[in-house]
Amino acid sequence: MICEKCKDEIPNFLDDCPKCSGNDIKFIYQNSNVDTSKTFYLANNIKRLLNFFFDTIVIIIIIRIFGYWLWVIENFLKSFNIPLEILNSIIDTIRLALIILLSSSYYIFLETIFGRTIGKFITQTRVIRQDGANPTIIDIFVRTVLRFIPLEAISFFRSQIGWHDYLSGTIVVFEKKNDNILSNDSKS
Ligand SMILES: [Zn+2]
Repeated sequence: MICEKCKDEIPNFLDDCPKCSGNDIKFIYQNSNVDTSKTFYLANNIKRLLNFFFDTIVIIIIIRIFGYWLWVIENFLKSFNIPLEILNSIIDTIRLALIILLSSSYYIFLETIFGRTIGKFITQTRVIRQDGANPTIIDIFVRTVLRFIPLEAISFFRSQIGWHDYLSGTIVVFEKKNDNILSNDSKS
C-alpha cells in the first residue's frame, strides 16, 4: 500500500502511514501462528520519548551504582606508576565500556524476558516482532546494537518507526481495549 500523502510504501504490518498519520495506527498480524487475540497499536513518538526518558534515568542510576567499581579500579591502577595521561585514557576507556555494557545489558535483559523496559512498563508499551511474535534474544540484541548508531534518535523525527525498529524487524506497540467499539455503535 502506498501512502497518498508522502507516496512512501506503508509497511504491510501497519494499517496507516507511520510518517503521516496523526491517529493510532493499528498493527496487522503477518503470522497467524502467533497469538492474534490482542489488538496492538503502534506506540507514538510521545510514548517513545517517555520510554527513552524513563529508561535513561534508570540507566544513569545503574551506572552511578556501578561507578563505585570504576573508582575501585581507578585506585587499583593508581598503585602502579602509570603516567597520568595514560592512566586517564585507560580510565576513560573503562568508563565508556562500562556505560555501553550496562545500558545494552539493561535493554537486552528486560526486553528479552519481559518484552519491555521500565520505561515501557510505565507507558504500557512493549516490543514485538513485525510478524506479531515475541522477539527472540537475537532480535533484541540486534535492536540494542542499532541504538548505538550515532544520531539514531533523529530517525524518529521522520517516522514513528526508528532505525532500531526497522532494521531489527521489531516495533513498539501498546494494547488497546476495543470494548468501546460496541458502545459507540449503540449510541449512533
Ligand atoms: Zn505518508
